[in-house]
Amino acid sequence: MLDEETWNEECGVVGIIGSNDAAQALYLGLYALQHRGQEAFGITTFEDKETYLEPRDHKALGTVSDSVQEEALQKLKGDLGIGHVRYSTQGGQLVQNIQPFIFRTPHHGPVAIAHNGNLTNASILRKSLEESGSIFTTTTDSEVFIHLLAKSRKSRLRERISQVMEQVRGAYALTIIAKDRLYGIRDPYGFRPLVLGKKDSAWMLASETCALDLVGAEFVREVEPGEVVRLSRSGIESFFPIPKPERKAACAFEPIYFSRPDSRIANESIYELRKRMGEVLAKESPVEADLVLAVPDSGVPMAIGYSQSSGIPLELGLVRNHYVGRTFIDPYQSKRDFGVKLKLNPVKSVLKGKRIVVIDDSVVRGTTCVKIVQMLRNAGASEIHFRVGSPPITHSCYYGVSTPDRKKLLAAQKTLKEICSMLGADTMAYLSVDGLKEALQPAGSEGYCYACFTGRYPEKIFCEIPEQPTDSVKFA
Ligand code: SF4
Repeated sequence: MLDEETWNEECGVVGIIGSNDAAQALYLGLYALQHRGQEAFGITTFEDKETYLEPRDHKALGTVSDSVQEEALQKLKGDLGIGHVRYSTQGGQLVQNIQPFIFRTPHHGPVAIAHNGNLTNASILRKSLEESGSIFTTTTDSEVFIHLLAKSRKSRLRERISQVMEQVRGAYALTIIAKDRLYGIRDPYGFRPLVLGKKDSAWMLASETCALDLVGAEFVREVEPGEVVRLSRSGIESFFPIPKPERKAACAFEPIYFSRPDSRIANESIYELRKRMGEVLAKESPVEADLVLAVPDSGVPMAIGYSQSSGIPLELGLVRNHYVGRTFIDPYQSKRDFGVKLKLNPVKSVLKGKRIVVIDDSVVRGTTCVKIVQMLRNAGASEIHFRVGSPPITHSCYYGVSTPDRKKLLAAQKTLKEICSMLGADTMAYLSVDGLKEALQPAGSEGYCYACFTGRYPEKIFCEIPEQPTDSVKFA
């Protein structure tokens, strides 16, 4: 999927406690998670002043590497902190929306929170909170957590968290600091990922294992759906405050596209899972061809799998310019108008006169695919067989992935034949939903959300879903 396709990532979170280098570790963690959001980032650390904790933060628009100077990190004192990289799925691009959010409570002192995901009942909760006097300072759904925590009449933070989890619906992976403790919380379906790591005596939380790797922390385990882990300098406690749903529903797009291929999910390598998607695709939709090529970079593992399974050699037929930037995570249409040519260039010597299989990881609106096929034809390919390593996307996401309206989703509007003709390809095929499940089997294929392919939403959605015809939406 190339930038213009606009299937946007959500956010990334990190947290650490008990580290002499907390700010540095958070910085590195966010650096590793940069692919999950490049619009803004924030780091908050807490310095222990013996009688109270003093939060310090550094927030900026743009990427971590562009904005963090050594002096800024040195000011972030303390051995515990959290961080966030943001893509604005909810709330728009405003400086005040940059997380972590810090708020002060009478009972628990300063509390910091960072959220990945999207609450499906945020507007209902926000309205009711505002009617009872809460004043919101951001336009994010994440702030709802803060007000619900603050309004709770329970005395212990653990009980407050439980009460909040009873009220919110949808997707959330949270890192929270309160009173010398780091909390990691995952919604009961586990839509968004959160992993636990350890480095020496420090505990670390992160959206993906690649963040642990860069910091040098050892992967301990995933935070379970519905679990709250409470980390202190002396150890870890875990509790499940609300009843577990019948099934887990981790976002299937994490292994397909969002997570880095060097991360792991359910103890499986994302890279290997993507290769399996390519292998299953080759079995489901074989074609006679001279070479396989990937739409770089995200289509590469699937193309390797397709090539190895089919025996058709893999070639580098499209070269990506990595210095253009991943503009697709910018939510403003005007900035997406970079041409595909700016990002991709065909290798004519590889393509001339060849029958090629092009592998992309997913197709959202199809506008980029049309340009890629045209580019390959112009470079001399004699046949173009377009293959997609995931099923047709027919429904929007309400769990933290910024998706276009259903009427802009190519597969929701056109038949496969129409899509093939629109792309200008000779043949076209997607991986089936069953094929995706087969590929994900080592990582427990039943524990995923497939709603954007099937319209079967794991949990009732409380916000309006105007673009989805009601007969196509089901709540499993
Ligand atoms: S609807 Fe799609 S993108 Fe959203 S959580 Fe489910 S699988 Fe992921």
